[in-house]
Amino acid sequence: MGIFIFLGLVLIVSTIFIIFKVRQSKYIRYLLNNSFALNKLLKLNDNFKFVNISNDFFDTHTYDNETFFNNISCEDYLIYQLQFKKFEIENAIKSIKYNITLYEKYINELTKISDFGKYKDEEKLNVAYLLKLEKKLFKQKVLNPKRVLYIQIVLYCSKINGYIYAKKEQIFTTEEVETLIKRLNNKNYEFYNDKGIWAALCRVERGRVSNKMRFAIYKRDGYRCCYCGRSEDADYLEIDHIKPIAKGGKSTYDNLQTLCRRCNKNKGDSY
Ligand SMILES: [Zn+2]
Repeated sequence: MGIFIFLGLVLIVSTIFIIFKVRQSKYIRYLLNNSFALNKLLKLNDNFKFVNISNDFFDTHTYDNETFFNNISCEDYLIYQLQFKKFEIENAIKSIKYNITLYEKYINELTKISDFGKYKDEEKLNVAYLLKLEKKLFKQKVLNPKRVLYIQIVLYCSKINGYIYAKKEQIFTTEEVETLIKRLNNKNYEFYNDKGIWAALCRVERGRVSNKMRFAIYKRDGYRCCYCGRSEDADYLEIDHIKPIAKGGKSTYDNLQTLCRRCNKNKGDSY
């Protein structure tokens, strides 16, 4: 018996719902054809061509070396990445600024539309419901172009087995990123005039030698110093940049070698 009452209720509720939906779509059709306010809005939307910016900028890196993780800030990491991504980010910032300016004009035009409740053809419809639906539709169709760009850096620290136990993150404003790009561009040939920028680039470059990479290089070099041939336990071996980072050397396999602590100390920053 209970099941029939339940099914009856379901039937009644779904019928009411269908009737409501049919009525709503009839009202929406009427509004799209007859509402002055809505038609002005749609025309306005056609006239304003906002730039479609699909992506925010997000970059992440995991350090398996706690010293590097502590020494390298999110800003350092961003500066390093800007070497490769600045044109892409500059273009996105340009588009954002374009959208912001255009949006101000759009809102200005939007506030001029005030003739709600005025329709081309009068039809026998529920006026109160019509007005409520008109305002709802209007709100839905107002454009909302992207006007904020998130540039986010997330750095993790992990054990050598990959277990992550620390994290830091920072979101940069477009103004902050523009300033960094300006500082990065301030250079003569390969020489950066801004010492802070150069220091940041060096910190990140040094940090690219992960512990995993370090042990791969020890193995490649047979756990021996490439200068004196001394073979000691890993505690006395160090990774040396053949061309030093301070002179533009990179943390790549062919620019890295195994040295014992003594030879590394003697070599210093020479090349
Ligand atoms: Zn040595």
